[in-house]
Amino acid sequence: MTTLLPVAGAAQIRQAAVNEIRTDRKAFAAVLVLNALAVGVGLVGPWLLGKIVDAVGKSPARDAVGTVDRLALVILVCTVAQIVLTRCARYVGYRFGERTAARIRERFLDRVLALPAAVAERTSAGDLIARGTTDAPTIAFALRTAAPDVFVAVIQATFIIGAVVVLNPVLGLSSLSCLLVATIAVRWYLRRSSAAYRTEAASGSQLAEALATSVAGARTIEALGLAEMHSMTTASSIDTARRARLATLRLRSVLFPALDVSYVLPLVAVLLIGGVLHNRDAVSLGTVVAAAVYLRQLVGPLDTVMLWVDGVQSAIASYARLEGLSSTPTVRQAISAEPADNRIRIIDVSYAYDHGRDVLHGVELDIEPGERLAVVGTSGAGKSTLARLLAGIDTPRTGSIHVGGVPISGLDADRLRHHVALVTQDQHVFHDTVRGNLLIARPDATDAQIRSALAAVGADWVDDLPDDLDTHLDGTGHRLDAAQAQQLSLARVVLADPHTVVLDEATAQMDPTSARNTERALAVVLEGRTVIAIAHRLQTAHDADRVAVMAAGRIIELGTHDDLIAREGTYAALWHSWHGEKRTAT
Ligand code: ATP
Repeated sequence: MTTLLPVAGAAQIRQAAVNEIRTDRKAFAAVLVLNALAVGVGLVGPWLLGKIVDAVGKSPARDAVGTVDRLALVILVCTVAQIVLTRCARYVGYRFGERTAARIRERFLDRVLALPAAVAERTSAGDLIARGTTDAPTIAFALRTAAPDVFVAVIQATFIIGAVVVLNPVLGLSSLSCLLVATIAVRWYLRRSSAAYRTEAASGSQLAEALATSVAGARTIEALGLAEMHSMTTASSIDTARRARLATLRLRSVLFPALDVSYVLPLVAVLLIGGVLHNRDAVSLGTVVAAAVYLRQLVGPLDTVMLWVDGVQSAIASYARLEGLSSTPTVRQAISAEPADNRIRIIDVSYAYDHGRDVLHGVELDIEPGERLAVVGTSGAGKSTLARLLAGIDTPRTGSIHVGGVPISGLDADRLRHHVALVTQDQHVFHDTVRGNLLIARPDATDAQIRSALAAVGADWVDDLPDDLDTHLDGTGHRLDAAQAQQLSLARVVLADPHTVVLDEATAQMDPTSARNTERALAVVLEGRTVIAIAHRLQTAHDADRVAVMAAGRIIELGTHDDLIAREGTYAALWHSWHGEKRTAT
């Protein structure tokens, strides 16, 4: 069962945002100061315009011309200074935004890569894809465009309102009261929008997951006649996503008209109240003009906030989803001690999937270096689970698995792969070159070592590839068949050179020719290593040094093939029945 990744709560988002600013605090301070200066210089113009109006009204015409010229020159200088300062503020702001976006993206990637294999396996692929391909770009876009604009707009609006209050408190307060409409509308919106945008993003993830599963399992779906059921599931996901979108659209359709009205109201109030006050000689005409011009200027910043409030909301929802990854468990606590030898000890191991019931109960086993151990048992006995624990993919609920006296769960991936490797039939070929696919196992491997690993597993097909080790193995490049993919994974094992290999159904579902080729390659790879093989054919058990028989999550018999046959227990019964079937078949 796949699960969705967590989403960060409000406190976590605030903390992460504060950390973001702290990391680049100098740039943030520069953005703040430059914007404040640009806005401050911009406020001088309307104030001087008011002075011009008053000068023209009071002075004789000749004196007024000189005053107007002087003031107009100062307005010009202020305008040029504002342009220069705004340009610098934007430049610094955009750079800050880009750097922050890059950090968020890199942190997301680091967190995804740090997810323990078991968590990554159970995480919904659609959710991860949506967070990487939708949420990360949404934040980057918002930081590149919305954040600098909104930041400037908020500073501008604050300064403009402050200027009107300083100019005339009555006019300032009356315009402020009209902004109440905007405040109420925005609060109404924000209270609902956060949840609505999160629902929208989550429904997008679910839709991506539904599509990804249908595409990945298209053949199986067709073969089992499940197409209609999958179409219905996808249609229901589309419907949920559509309804979530409509919900956010409804919120916007209330907010925008309300804001439209609210930012014209202060201007109307200043003109009406200013007119009355001027008639009573309580304010000069210049003050009313300056206040009206300021409030006209308020339209710009409010417009910007209105334009981006939506983008900022969805960016915050995306940020919450990317930051949510910080609460997932990361790769285990690394232990610095090096294993003393190659001995594997399984000590009283119990394990349960996703807090369910235990599927392994008090498993105890010592495996000698170089030993070949076969694990047999009926389906569901816990063989594959034990293999995953041995390979360090999952961690025991209680008890531990040691290699050379060190718990496997304390070795990070880089160290673990030099000790234990798991080979299953699910071989992943990465969208990379042949070389890139192999360097995963040993990043410092030379071409000669790569070639020798490929030769060891009989992958001579590499010589026929158009670009040799540089040939791309993906949808657009060369495609490998199952046997070639398995050879590639075995070459990785050769390069990683672990002393212990755990085999789980490595060839179980291959066609006979591929299985024979792979087994030949396997024989070379396994030479000189400890082998723990989940045995589906009892011939493997027959050839092993020891056989462990599992039933209902416990090892119920352990010994050599001959010992267990002589004991006439479960293994002997399995052997006789398998041998009998084989004889009948031949
Ligand atoms: P098989 O030979 O059929 O693969 P097995 O002996 O390898 O069987 P496991 O696959 O280890 O058995 O399964 C042991 C138990 O754990 C079973 O009851 C199975 O249903 C359960 N189990 C296996 N994988 C998961 C999982 N991902 N989530 C929950 N339970 C699981």
